[in-house]
Amino acid sequence: MQDGLLNAGVISSAALDSLDIREDGGAVSVEAGAGVQVRKMLALALERGLGGLAFLTGIPGTIGGALYGNAGAAGESFAPLVEWIETVSHAGELRRWQRGDLSWQYRESPWREPPLLITKALFRLFYEQKNNIIKNIRHFAELKKGQPIGAKTAGCVFKNPPGEAAGRLLEQCGCKELSVGGARVSQRHANFIENHGCARAEDIYNLTRMCQKRVYEEFGIKLAYEIKFFGAF
Ligand SMILES: Cc1cc2nc3c(=O)[nH]c(=O)nc-3n(C[C@H](O)[C@H](O)[C@H](O)COP(=O)(O)OP(=O)(O)OC[C@H]3O[C@@H](n4cnc5c(N)ncnc54)[C@H](O)[C@@H]3O)c2cc1C
Repeated sequence: MQDGLLNAGVISSAALDSLDIREDGGAVSVEAGAGVQVRKMLALALERGLGGLAFLTGIPGTIGGALYGNAGAAGESFAPLVEWIETVSHAGELRRWQRGDLSWQYRESPWREPPLLITKALFRLFYEQKNNIIKNIRHFAELKKGQPIGAKTAGCVFKNPPGEAAGRLLEQCGCKELSVGGARVSQRHANFIENHGCARAEDIYNLTRMCQKRVYEEFGIKLAYEIKFFGAF
């Protein structure tokens, strides 16, 4: 978000916080409001022995945000689990997108139309032994060990280019030594930028551009943003 005032409306999804389990014969699904915190849904899944969501371990934010950005880890994502997503358009039109209407792409919203507000979604899950769920959660937690957990970051800055890891490219061309104002490339993982207390949005943006330039000059690869910038940059 740009420094200073943003000339835009902001919608809070906090009130969309319903979380219901539906059981139908052997099938089980969870209907979640867009404002439900990802960690709350994961905790419910663990408590009720529902499998399929362990990939959400350590991903902050809401279900709406995670669906919008097609959040995932190690190749796992919502795509095989989502039965439908309900949205409201700018004009107030309600639409329920069925599984077949959604076109999932790496870290992109599942539709190519103008921005839509996600209100809720239905996830088809499966019963799983709690021991197994815990094992899977530990597995995903382990994958995050190399990340700057606890630091102020917005998650991965760049998408991984096909067949490559953005963090590795950034590290190889020395980006870990870069900083602008209070924004620094993380020493733990070069695809994260840490705010050391006083970074302005402009500092973070300028630092990302420096990183992008280095990778392009060194490898000829233009890294695409995974994070989104709002306002004037
Ligand atoms: C420490 C850290 C680790 C992370 N690890 C991962 C990871 O392993 N894998 C991964 O994929 N991502 C990861 N992320 C990114 C994470 O997925 C996003 O930050 C998160 O999903 C954003 O959710 P939010 O609710 O905070 O949305 P916001 O940050 O508020 O918004 C993000 C975007 O989603 C849109 N949005 C939010 N809610 C809705 C809604 N209801 N309807 C329509 N659009 C909406 C916003 O308009 C905005 O464009 C990580 C982030 C952090 C900070």
